Amino acid sequence: MIQTDILIIGAGPCGLFTVFEAGLLKLKCHLIDALPQAGGQCAEIYPKKPIYDIPAYPDILAGDLVDRLMEQAAPFKPGFTLGERAETIVKDDEDQFIVTTNRGTVHRAPIIAIAGGLGCFEPRKPPVERLAEYEDRGVEYIIKDPEFYRGKKVVISGGGDSALDWTNFLADGVASEVTLVHRRDGFRGHPDSVQKVLDLAAEGRIRLLTNGEVMGVEGDECLEALTVKHKTEGNLRLETDHWVPLFGLSPKLGPIADWNLNISKNAIEVDTFDYSTNVDGIYAIGDINTYPGKLKLILCGFHEATLMVQSAFKRIYPDKNLVLKYTTVNGVNGF
Ligand SMILES: Cc1cc2nc3c(=O)[nH]c(=O)nc-3n(C[C@H](O)[C@H](O)[C@H](O)COP(=O)(O)OP(=O)(O)OC[C@H]3O[C@@H](n4cnc5c(N)ncnc54)[C@H](O)[C@@H]3O)c2cc1C
Repeated sequence: MIQTDILIIGAGPCGLFTVFEAGLLKLKCHLIDALPQAGGQCAEIYPKKPIYDIPAYPDILAGDLVDRLMEQAAPFKPGFTLGERAETIVKDDEDQFIVTTNRGTVHRAPIIAIAGGLGCFEPRKPPVERLAEYEDRGVEYIIKDPEFYRGKKVVISGGGDSALDWTNFLADGVASEVTLVHRRDGFRGHPDSVQKVLDLAAEGRIRLLTNGEVMGVEGDECLEALTVKHKTEGNLRLETDHWVPLFGLSPKLGPIADWNLNISKNAIEVDTFDYSTNVDGIYAIGDINTYPGKLKLILCGFHEATLMVQSAFKRIYPDKNLVLKYTTVNGVNGF
């Protein structure tokens, strides 16, 4: 059981900045994110795109902004549960929330800050019969830890940056065999990554099957082989330990929609006084909330996080007097 003061659902920019603001008030944070890395949309969708409306940065790459936020949060030693989706929430008899993930990790906190952005990014799954039977038994939609694939036969499907980057990475002495299957001739990824994949194929270090599509999965208990329908070669059988279809992620509000919160147009209604929801002790900040005049911008989420933690402090310590102190006066004293 992971105990903390503020349990943040969503490690996007707004969740990460909450750690800093909470830390200034000596409140500990733990973050849960369904993705294997922190950074939310900035890290997952547009890490190499410049952002121009972060105060004091005339421009900053989204990925660099995430790095800066992680650095700013570091003195407050946040905990992370990554690659797991917050699934259920209940209250115990000491007025604490218990949040359990889809992998069974249990968290306990008096305050919940939902910073879930557009919701969970769900993997786009290929329409292959009996696919669900092999999920986590050889079929994975995200690569959480490349070491998991050491010495294994791996088939990757997809034509974008994730598929290309992981093919290049796993082929570099990690997996014993790597095959990349893509249904077209051309790739959508960065030209440099495409070239690396073509070079690896030419050197015989990976098998590249373009114009092919995985149509079937088979195996006793665990995945053992795939059937690939190839445009010119017909049906091919590929023996493999793992299949990783990387067809992108699409956002869904997910389990949070069932948490008895007031929802309007796929977003959580909040009181702009402190970004509290209709459930006492649960707040919502960043892209996931809605109120009159809401703008889905990072700097608005930062403001919301700052006000929210003040209210959270008062809920945790109703008898303590909270006096705003500038960081220029107090400095940043971590834990
Ligand atoms: C292409 C593009 C360009 C943009 N450009 C700008 C810009 O220039 N300036 C700007 O201010 N904004 C920009 N935005 C918007 C900005 O990215 C968002 O406002 C910002 O990411 C919101 O941050 P967040 O922390 O609220 O949520 P997100 O960044 O969406 O992060 C939410 C996180 O919560 C996780 N999550 C959700 N539900 C669960 C659950 N149940 N369990 C576990 N984890 C969960 C998700 O996996 C995700 O990682 C842009 C967006 C896009 C797509």
